[in-house]
Amino acid sequence: MSSPEELLKLSYLISQLPGVGSRLASKAAIYLALNPNNYTENLVEGIKSVIEKLGSCANCGNLSKRGESCRICRNNLRVEDQVMVVQDVSGLNTIEESGAYNGKYHVLGGVLSPSRGITPVDLKIEGLLKRLVDGTIEVIFALNPDLEGEATIMFLKDKIIKINSNVKFSRLARGIPTGSDIEFLPGRTLAESIKQRTLF
Ligand SMILES: [Zn+2]
Repeated sequence: MSSPEELLKLSYLISQLPGVGSRLASKAAIYLALNPNNYTENLVEGIKSVIEKLGSCANCGNLSKRGESCRICRNNLRVEDQVMVVQDVSGLNTIEESGAYNGKYHVLGGVLSPSRGITPVDLKIEGLLKRLVDGTIEVIFALNPDLEGEATIMFLKDKIIKINSNVKFSRLARGIPTGSDIEFLPGRTLAESIKQRTLF
């Protein structure tokens, strides 16, 4: 028996979520179609609310209430002259959960990737440069340890040096396996690699 078109479409949409394969998507779509205890309606309300009320922090790119700076940018107890560059909001959250960092962030929105067509204009680079024009700031790179992450670090370092030669650069300590995703690292490993970070 073939599934109704609506179910196939829903299943396809769910399969586009990060980390969700087609099998799990199909199972979830059937669950949603059955709408147990109005779960599906509540989920729709939750999604609508997130779309209406949340946006990106204009300063750092973290999630925030629409039109407002995020809670990290607003927190003046955090160290102002440290900016950790992360790929995405998931990575930022993982680092926050490790509790090992008390500076500010900049969410790049990805890494440079010629093979996937991601170029500098696709990343939030201009916003980062604007934040680094003055002062002695430490920029800590917390990008995934792979070739694309490495190429992005070198590209950004070159750009930043040109606008402020007082910026110090550091990166998470070696020991994070190449190809691993920062988002999924155990908190303790991450905390250690932040503490042991090296200047370069
Ligand atoms: Zn922010």
